[in-house]
Amino acid sequence: MTQISYQQCLNPACAAEYDVQEALFACPACGDLLDVRYRWERMAVPADWSIFEDRWANRSDPRDFSGVWRFRELLAFCPPEQLVTVGEGQTVCQANDGIAAYVRSRPGRVFLQYEGLNPSGSFKDNGMAAAFSHARMIGVRHVACASTGNTSASVALYAHACGMQCSVFIGSGRIAYGKLSQALDYGAQTIQIQGDFDDCMRRVQEVCRDKNLYLVNSLNPFRLEGQKTIMYRVLESLGWRVPDWIVVPGGNLGNSSAFGKAFAELKELGLIGKIPRLAVINAAGADTLYDLYENQNLRFNGGRVEAERIDAYYARLNESGYRPHTLATAIEISRPVNLKKCLRALEICRGLVRRVTDEEILDAKAAVGRFGLGCEPASGASVAGLKRLRAEGVIGADETVVCILTGHQLKDPTVTVDYHSRHQGEFSNRPREVPDEIDQIIRALEL
Ligand SMILES: *Cc1c(COP(=O)(O)O)cnc(C)c1O
Ligand SMILES: [Zn+2]
Repeated sequence: MTQISYQQCLNPACAAEYDVQEALFACPACGDLLDVRYRWERMAVPADWSIFEDRWANRSDPRDFSGVWRFRELLAFCPPEQLVTVGEGQTVCQANDGIAAYVRSRPGRVFLQYEGLNPSGSFKDNGMAAAFSHARMIGVRHVACASTGNTSASVALYAHACGMQCSVFIGSGRIAYGKLSQALDYGAQTIQIQGDFDDCMRRVQEVCRDKNLYLVNSLNPFRLEGQKTIMYRVLESLGWRVPDWIVVPGGNLGNSSAFGKAFAELKELGLIGKIPRLAVINAAGADTLYDLYENQNLRFNGGRVEAERIDAYYARLNESGYRPHTLATAIEISRPVNLKKCLRALEICRGLVRRVTDEEILDAKAAVGRFGLGCEPASGASVAGLKRLRAEGVIGADETVVCILTGHQLKDPTVTVDYHSRHQGEFSNRPREVPDEIDQIIRALEL
């Protein structure tokens, strides 16, 4: 019997197909990225959203409680009894009028999707629920990843939840303390390489190939299947109405890639009538996608990406000794592994790319703290990007926009405390030091 799900090469000139039982992180025939695909016509896909929504109320089945697996018919690559969950995806999407005012949108038009509410504090848990289900299905014992921090925290949590060993590769210096503390506390074997994320990414692929470890970076196509559900929950929160725009920070470009795939599939299945536009936001100090897409006009072209231009771009980065640099460490990546898939998402969603400075990121992050539930620096890039797109008039004041807040406020306390106590940003909120003296204390209070 032909399987209802399979893996397929992204390159239309190759389009090789592979079984879902295989652990592949590139097409063995041509080296391109792989997708998980479904033979929808042979599957019992619900005709409307109500079945997913109804599961929300069921607290007795962990798969119904999971914000990933209650959508399981839309990512059905694994038998239901083998699915892995630690309760991911209990996130909220809230209208935020403080942020709407900050970016000069009309009240009620700007929504924040809080992925920091996941068990390990970032959206990565959505992807890990899916990747670890696949890993368990095929009998994996040991997983590995490169990480700027959140991937390692999430991987360590899931690996030990399903009895696997894990090794995480992090660069030297540039990791937020909250994230490092999680990887260590969850018991990950943590290898700190003298280099940056891009170096770690290259090395972990070598190690996985040589030692046959299971790679859980977003090169893993099963991970992206889990991240599609972020968009399902956004739609659910909006009463299944499609917003005009989704704004997301871009690092390794797994999220943006997953979102584009999610919308293309939902359209094909008739579950949505239109596809929202997508804005991917780079940090100015790590702006490969921006440069290639906006300055050099690189396009997906139905799959015929001019790969020589990407290779030439990376060769120039190598020659000049370029290193990405931003306080938003989660997106401090100059060789995004999902670049081609992201170009596809930009084609599907008529997308665009912007880049924002660290100052804009920090102010936007503080605005999310001041008016909302808070977020880590990389997440602030989405709100900073929206502010810019509003100022340019590309996004209208009346358009409905959802900004994805990818990680929790407590991930990077160093940057937050620094912003408030030293850096004079728009929302800096410095602690006031006073002697232990009642008159001076009262004078220091603004009452
Ligand atoms: C991983 C991560 C990103 C980058 O997401 P990509 O899918 O790699 O583009 C952004 N923000 C946070 C908080 C992250 O952990
Ligand atoms: Zn191929």
